[in-house]
Amino acid sequence: MPKETQNSLSEKEKNELLIILEKQGKAKWFKRWKEHMAFPNNINPLSKEKNEQEKTLRYLLLRVLINQQAKFEKVREMSLKISEEFTDVLLFEPYKVPESELFKVFKNVAGEKGSLLYRVGKLGGIKPISLFTYRFKAYEGFIKWLNETKQTFFDLIVNQLLNEKAFTLFEFLNMHPILEAGWVGNDPKACRMFVNWVIFLLNEIWKKEVSKMEDTLMIVDGHVGKVFCRSGLLEEVLYEKNRPYIIQASKMRPWIEKIVSNSRRVPFYVDNGAFYLFEDGFCTDLNPNCQSCPINKLCKKYIKWTAYQKWEGTKC
Ligand code: SF4
Repeated sequence: MPKETQNSLSEKEKNELLIILEKQGKAKWFKRWKEHMAFPNNINPLSKEKNEQEKTLRYLLLRVLINQQAKFEKVREMSLKISEEFTDVLLFEPYKVPESELFKVFKNVAGEKGSLLYRVGKLGGIKPISLFTYRFKAYEGFIKWLNETKQTFFDLIVNQLLNEKAFTLFEFLNMHPILEAGWVGNDPKACRMFVNWVIFLLNEIWKKEVSKMEDTLMIVDGHVGKVFCRSGLLEEVLYEKNRPYIIQASKMRPWIEKIVSNSRRVPFYVDNGAFYLFEDGFCTDLNPNCQSCPINKLCKKYIKWTAYQKWEGTKC
């Protein structure tokens, strides 16, 4: 895999930049978290009731499973529609949801072929509805396993976090013999996101001292990786051989995690801070708006690095 070395920021500058990303990521997340998680009417994430918290956790698990490789606006609509249609059965006995009715909702939201939710073409003949189904079935099987073993998801998560660290919870969910079937890749971003969401809810909303925000994980999607490359937080950049200069974000995740961990910043907020530079229209793949970008003064602006689209050489 091609690698390029570039001048990175000084240690002082890196630290300064990570503090800004953390601060902005936290402030914006507190305004947007409910919108990102997309809760249906039958779930109250602010409730201190254990049953409500159990419902919240189960819903979010399904939400992140079907989120993988999906178009983000549609996936929120899909999560809301199936929750509103099947309500508590979906959360406690999803195996009682008839496939014919589930698929009806799927097609209503995702279109007859499902291509409004999952991109076809890159999937090697796999239909969007098949992607949806295997993720739903992994969720369904996991809830059945919880019921059969007489556990609540809440207790299971709290025990994992109390005894170990966030990464252990991530590994438990990632390697779980049933849930494993629902994740995309060996180090699924969706599973990392779920762990971060849970630690956020426990700490900041439910006020349970189970795990610290400092224990959260870097998710590092393409847009986050891009900010680390463009800004000069990274000294070495890995990119695709056939499509220079599209970066290989997941391959650089361990380096990014180390930088953030050395700086003792909160990984989840730093990740959000970098992601929002894209979401808010600054660090877009092509034609980034560097002039108005909040990290303009520190960033090295190595703008040839992109997350998904091939750079055509437009000036910043
Ligand atoms: S928009 Fe420009 S200044 Fe902002 S992070 Fe991207 S490359 Fe850096």
